[in-house]
Amino acid sequence: MGGEPARNDAAKQVNAQPQRRGCYHGRMSTTTTGRLAPSPTGAQHVGNARTYLIAWLSARARGGTVKLRIEDIDSPRIKPGAADEAVSDLRWLGLDWDGPPAVQTARLPHYTAALEELKRQERVYPCTCTRSDIAAAASAPHAGDEIAYPGTCAHRRATDAPALAAAGKPFAWRFRVTDDPVYTDLFAGEQRIDLKRSGGDFVVWKNAGTPAYQLAVVVDDAATGVTEVIRGDDLIPSTPRQLLLYDALGLTSPEFGHVPLVVGEDGRRLAKRHGDTRLSALRAAGVAPESLVGLLAWSCGWLREPESVTPRDLLPRFHLSAIPPQPFVLTAEVLKRIGYAG
Ligand SMILES: [Zn+2]
Repeated sequence: MGGEPARNDAAKQVNAQPQRRGCYHGRMSTTTTGRLAPSPTGAQHVGNARTYLIAWLSARARGGTVKLRIEDIDSPRIKPGAADEAVSDLRWLGLDWDGPPAVQTARLPHYTAALEELKRQERVYPCTCTRSDIAAAASAPHAGDEIAYPGTCAHRRATDAPALAAAGKPFAWRFRVTDDPVYTDLFAGEQRIDLKRSGGDFVVWKNAGTPAYQLAVVVDDAATGVTEVIRGDDLIPSTPRQLLLYDALGLTSPEFGHVPLVVGEDGRRLAKRHGDTRLSALRAAGVAPESLVGLLAWSCGWLREPESVTPRDLLPRFHLSAIPPQPFVLTAEVLKRIGYAG
């Protein structure tokens, strides 16, 4: 696709006007490192594409770099071939990244080292509770809250783990929630979540012997110098937990921006019941990636009407603040505008 010359041109355009008022926060353009982090637990769909496009533009529009990470540690749910397909989907959209992708399953020693550090500080304890133990012991959660871990195992110390292991008791590692970090989201503004009521002490290492999402992404984002995380707003509750981990591990946290998801006509998160919105299905049906990118750009308020554009064409138009605060409703009529009948 000859991406290099185009990127240089785009970078020049942005660098030529570093004081643009469109810059939504005051970082120097050269310091931004964003990331794309597909999880190969299933096919990438139109909703994922919208978030990737926003994340990519947010970094590239300021001349920043973009890292790619394959989040494949959730092993029972990983679909064979889905990682390669995710990479193909991103390339098809016209998104690129700098350097080789980081693959989580190849980074286990880094997560183990972080867990050891948390154990050393007694920030984590071994938890032998099953899901049903927790449901039985926890009080009924408030509407919208997760069930809060009732603290059954919080009396334990990290050094209790070998005896549990010797007794053949499987256990996870839970992080002790001591406070609720308030943070200012780049898109959604100030966020306060009562972690004790909503979730409580959280798992950083599963009893299957693998790191939990919260720990792995913190270790990865810090290791790859990510300064800005743009992701779907379903992950807002993860952010204060991750901020606690950054703090405990002595790592510098990135800035976070959570953008609205794409939903179906019923207002629910895009899923199979809304028809086939997998990028591979659109591609197979002959939809041009520029048509989809134009549709997504229109949904983000960067174009008046859907038209064919590439991600690079959007660099001068990108504004995080132009994105509507409500979810984007993807209807069959909307998809017909790009020649896709589902
Ligand atoms: Zn427990």
